Amino acid sequence: MCGVIGICSKSNVSTSLFYGMNSLQHRGQEAAGMAVYDGEEIRRTRSMGLVIDAFTEEKLRELPGTIGIGHVRYATASGSHDYNIQPLMGFIGGEMIALASDGNLVNYQILRERLEEEGMMFQTTSDTEVILYLITRYYDGDIVEAIKKTMKVIRGAYSVTALVKDKVVAFRDPHGFRPFVLGRDGDDVIVASENAAIEIIGGEMTRNVEAGEILVIDGTGIHSDRFESEATARNCIFEYVYFARNDATLDDINAYTFRRRCGEILWEEAPCDVDLVVPVPDSGIPSAIGYAQAAGIPYGEGLVKNRYMGRTFIKPTQKEREMAVKLKLNPLVDVVKGKSIVLLDDSIVRGTTSRNLIKRLRDAGAREVHMRITSPPVAYSCYYGIDTPNRKNLIAANQSIQEIEENIGADSLAFISLEGLAKAGKKDVSEYCTACFDGDYPVDPTLI
Ligand code: AMP
Repeated sequence: MCGVIGICSKSNVSTSLFYGMNSLQHRGQEAAGMAVYDGEEIRRTRSMGLVIDAFTEEKLRELPGTIGIGHVRYATASGSHDYNIQPLMGFIGGEMIALASDGNLVNYQILRERLEEEGMMFQTTSDTEVILYLITRYYDGDIVEAIKKTMKVIRGAYSVTALVKDKVVAFRDPHGFRPFVLGRDGDDVIVASENAAIEIIGGEMTRNVEAGEILVIDGTGIHSDRFESEATARNCIFEYVYFARNDATLDDINAYTFRRRCGEILWEEAPCDVDLVVPVPDSGIPSAIGYAQAAGIPYGEGLVKNRYMGRTFIKPTQKEREMAVKLKLNPLVDVVKGKSIVLLDDSIVRGTTSRNLIKRLRDAGAREVHMRITSPPVAYSCYYGIDTPNRKNLIAANQSIQEIEENIGADSLAFISLEGLAKAGKKDVSEYCTACFDGDYPVDPTLI
């Protein structure tokens, strides 16, 4: 999980990239980087931390240029090291190239080992370096051909943006796992992981970058090509469940509307006779509104969120994860005391969040705490860029719903069905990647 942006403009882009990256911050908070072409060379700045910390006004001034790309990073497979901060850079036919990706290659290890045997020395532990290296290797003057040859070899999820001299190049894997959209602001062209990055700088999203599409954007316009493959689009359903912003309209589905519908559908599938519908903020809010309205039960903010906490999910030890949930969410006694409540959250992964919240809501005086989850049980690891832990740590891979209910201490527990989830997006289950729920992996993960 990461965020990417690329802008081709007639005026300076570094400030727009900075704002765009800020609006993609939820996709990665670990590091941020930007590369801008100033007419002669590509300059790059990268740093650990949030976008706001990584770039000062002075740093942005040192990055003049009308074409550039940016990246926010959430370390999944490759670990947290400054040498992995993107964009990565190299040389292609004597010219500089900068490249950044969102996703995860399932055959990274195999490709890396093969390339190392051939004598290649890697400078990172990021699969993005393999993409960069292969494009460079296949390049003989035609960037689109080099990308097509690269796409033949790499497997998995990738939404890539690159700066090749005076061009922004963007391409998306044949399944379109990770989101990628295209937009305009007058004559400026923008590609980004989510539409907010386009809108925030005054532009408008025009369409999706299609699965398997290769775009070359320069002063002459937008040139589209395709990587031919048998694969059909399988957008990641977890983007709608949890990951994307509420205002994201990805592959023609708005995340807020999707989440709200999930709440309505969950009410139909698993009604609950309670005094109050309470969301786990922020991701549970739209679905709790949907559930409450469908049920005709009042909606109440029974948990207060500390807005200054980062992600709690990937803290290394269980103790740290427990403390992080406490710091992040605190029950609001006045709202929940004496009430029977139903708590809406988007997912249960290890069970830490629900167990902790249910206990503390009871301590705060809630009479009954029922739990409703707007995704099916997460029973399989994701190999396409969503940071799910090893299968042995997924509570739903090891316990039945009844056992999870007891484990987290809920009065009742229900998950939305997979069909119900797909219905929220008005698509068929087969049009999404649902591997984390049903183990149906569109790209063989054993290539790892
Ligand atoms: P857990 O506490 O392990 O059961 O994780 C579930 C909580 O983590 C839910 O409240 C989700 O909103 C959140 N969550 C689910 N998937 C992810 C993810 N990939 N990264 C960060 N947070 C997540």
